[in-house]
Formats: sequence, C-alpha cells, structure tokens
Amino acid sequence: MATIVFTHPACVEHDPGDYHPERPDRLRAVLAALKGAGFEALAWREAPKAERAQIERVHEKSYVERVLASVPKRGQIHLDPDTALSPASGEAALRAAGAAAAAVDAVMAGEAKNAFCAIRPPGHHAENAQAMGFCLFNNAAVAALQARAVHGLKRIAVVDFDVHHGNGTQHSFERDAGLFYGSSHQWPAYPGTGLAEETGIADNIANVPLPPGAGSAEFRAGYRNTLLPALKRFAPEFLVISAGFDAHARDPLAQMRLGADDYAWVTRELLAVAETSAQGRAISCLEGGYDLDALAESAAAHVREMMKAA
Ligand SMILES: [Zn+2]
Repeated sequence: MATIVFTHPACVEHDPGDYHPERPDRLRAVLAALKGAGFEALAWREAPKAERAQIERVHEKSYVERVLASVPKRGQIHLDPDTALSPASGEAALRAAGAAAAAVDAVMAGEAKNAFCAIRPPGHHAENAQAMGFCLFNNAAVAALQARAVHGLKRIAVVDFDVHHGNGTQHSFERDAGLFYGSSHQWPAYPGTGLAEETGIADNIANVPLPPGAGSAEFRAGYRNTLLPALKRFAPEFLVISAGFDAHARDPLAQMRLGADDYAWVTRELLAVAETSAQGRAISCLEGGYDLDALAESAAAHVREMMKAA
C-alpha cells in the first residue's frame, strides 16, 4: 500500500512574520523533497479542516474560539512572544489538526498502513488553553484522541523526536494511562520540561533529555535503552510520531548533532514496534526543523522509511 501524504496550501500560507524561523519556506522545502525522485508512489490528499469537536478533545472550547477569533485581517498578531497569527493562520491550524485526524481515519479504514502530515503550524508545545512555541493546536494529540474516540482504540502512543520537549502533549497525556508520550530532546533548552523523572500516572511518560552537543550515539542509546523498551511495554495499538527535524547538526535553533541517517534509523525502529503491536498503523506529523536543506533531507529520509514499511 502507498503511504499517504496529507497537506494543504493554507499550511504554506500561514506566516508568522519576516525573520520568523517557522516560515512558509519550511513546508515548501519538505513538499519539494517529497515531489522528487523516489517518492512517486506517495498518495497525496488534501487535508480537511478539523471539526471543532476533534480539537476540543484536546483544547478548551474557549481557547479554540480565542485562537480563531484572533486571526488578523492583515499583518500579524502575537499570541505569545514566539507565536504569531497571519490571515491564513486560522485555516492553516484547522487544516493541520484536520490532517492529523484524517490520517488516523485513513489508516484505520485500511486505505494505507501509514501516513505523513506535511503541515504547519506545528503542535507539540500547544497546551490545553495556551498557544506556545509556534504552536496553536496540538496536532499529534488531536490524532491520538481521534484514534480513541472514533475508532475505539485503548492504547495510543505519541513518540516525539523534535529537539524540543513536547510539553503540550505530555501535559495532555500524563494523567491518562491509555496514552503514552515518549520524547527525546535537548535539555536544557526550550521549553524547560522533559526531565527523566517526569513519568506520568502509570509510567506512560518517558523522557530522554540529551545535552547540547549530543549526536547519533547518544540519541540512539536513548532510544535503545529507554524509549523503545518503554514503547514496547506500552504496546500501542496506534503510533503517532511528532516528527521535528531540529536536532539535525545544521539546525540553528538547537545544538544537537543528528544527521538524516539518524532520522531514518529512528523511523525504522519506531515502525518496527508499531508492526508488533499496532499492525503497523502509524501516522507522522511535521513539527520543527529550521535549516531548510537539513529539514528537507531529514523529512525525506523519514518518509522513505515509512514508504518501505507500508
Ligand atoms: Zn522543535
């Protein structure tokens, strides 16, 4: 079966402002890579807008209304010092969350074994009622709760290899034993959460903080020793990957030293766990990654492994 890619032009148009690292060219670079040689077998779908009810499984209704009501007619408005809205941002945020939910639906319907959501804005910092760190709605958490609410799954995992800790996802999951969140990230770094002793209500949170300068060896050891065993113990029925590529050595926002081959490796390892307990069912949501070439090359390596596993 073909891997499906969900995306929408509004996700490119979302524009937090000149000089903002989370810029439209990021998604253009990813899409150009996935339109290139070797990716002809991908099945492309337009991301639908999320239903409000899908987003409100994760976020307070009043917050969702506030975000959508804040969308400016022109220019930018800031929800926090890092997080800005432009005229296209409301639709982009709805399409990003909608991509994640639709990807779950497509995989559960057997239309594909796995799917990649080529989306902006990213989601893993978005809290229950707070925009943070370039994120408006928590796309990966929306996907996880779609798998539970609509498809009746009991154990859903999100694994997040973005260089930043996904505070929003962890806070949404930590008191819910049916949800697992595992993260590798640089520490200390934004947003400051993600210590190893943050383990959730039922050891359903697993954090691997890595020091600035950490590279392939430390990253892979973190997965081999901690994250992969924890994920296997949880035995997810569905896997959601928060795929940020800003732990790449060339990324300007952090100081880790991964290469594209590390993203291929971690993708293979995660999909192997999904194969064991989840019939291979997995979706991936684009999070960070701020060097355009490193982002494109790393996302391509990630999606190539998804295609091989499909
Ligand atoms: Zn990040």
